[in-house]
Amino acid sequence: MTAKLILGKEVSEEIYGELRQRIEALKARGVTPGLAVVLVGDDPASQVYVRKKGEMCEELGMRSTTIVMPKETTQEELLRKVAELNADPSIHGYLVQLPLPDHIDEEAVIDAIDPSKDVDCFHPSNVGRMLIGDPDFLPATPAGVQQMLVRSGIETAGRHVVVVGRSNIVGKPMAAMMVQRGAGADSTVTVVHSKTPNLAEITSTADILVVAIGKPRFITADMVKEGAVVIDVGTNRIQDPTHPKGSRLVGDVDFDAVKEKASYITPVPGGVGPMTICMLMANAVRAAERVVG
Ligand code: NDP
Repeated sequence: MTAKLILGKEVSEEIYGELRQRIEALKARGVTPGLAVVLVGDDPASQVYVRKKGEMCEELGMRSTTIVMPKETTQEELLRKVAELNADPSIHGYLVQLPLPDHIDEEAVIDAIDPSKDVDCFHPSNVGRMLIGDPDFLPATPAGVQQMLVRSGIETAGRHVVVVGRSNIVGKPMAAMMVQRGAGADSTVTVVHSKTPNLAEITSTADILVVAIGKPRFITADMVKEGAVVIDVGTNRIQDPTHPKGSRLVGDVDFDAVKEKASYITPVPGGVGPMTICMLMANAVRAAERVVG
């Protein structure tokens, strides 16, 4: 079997089409959804992510605000900025780009964000609401994976979803979302991680395998069941002298071998990647809709 590709660009275009209509409807009621992004320091990868978020906002006709603060910014100064954004009615949603410089306590900053504006869905109150099945927002990357499954017509109810990785931004929320009642979920979920001894034994029982560990080509064909749906969240840059840049991106899955065994697979790049920013935009639109009522 050669797997069908699930392409983030195609799925996200469909969602952007829906978001554009929702943004128009908000504008017709006099509200332009506004997203702010706070960047502390000059980490080059963060600068790229922040720029892309701003560009996407503008492309969708949303108001975009980027606040750049120097890397010497104190925690107090950042918390003051967070309080300002909480109080600003023109900012419907915002996020503080992570990672923050070492001298700033990330948890304290996330705790200070008004949960109704927390479009990254990192605030404990939003994480809790997601867990009890009553979410305001969903965390962007796992929500993107779920949309890829739903919009590719993949049945999730009663199927065994194995999530590899247990980070707070991907693995844990992914598992929490798939175990909920309802469409795109209702799955039987197993989470495996670096302390799981019989990892391959478990992954090879997955109907749907979601991998988010950050280890290039870790999942090999012998770890995957024939006909499984394989979603590769991993993004790893490896050296490749044959590539013009001298390096290229690969996922956590050995794509070439696994695609011969899976029924569906996401490539890297071009798979989950474009979904994350798309679902962030969806959360920003939702934040504005909640204000309008
Ligand atoms: P983290 O480093 O926060 O977490 C990695 C997880 O993988 C941990 O739970 C760790 O286990 C587990 N792990 C590491 N090594 C192994 C192993 N050998 N066997 C089993 N489990 C292992 O990573 P993230 O969740 O933030 O990101 C994972 C990957 O996804 C990265 O490549 C990242 O770049 C990518 N990513 C891509 C996004 C996108 O938009 N496409 C968005 C977010 C992330 P333990 O807890 O036991 O240490």
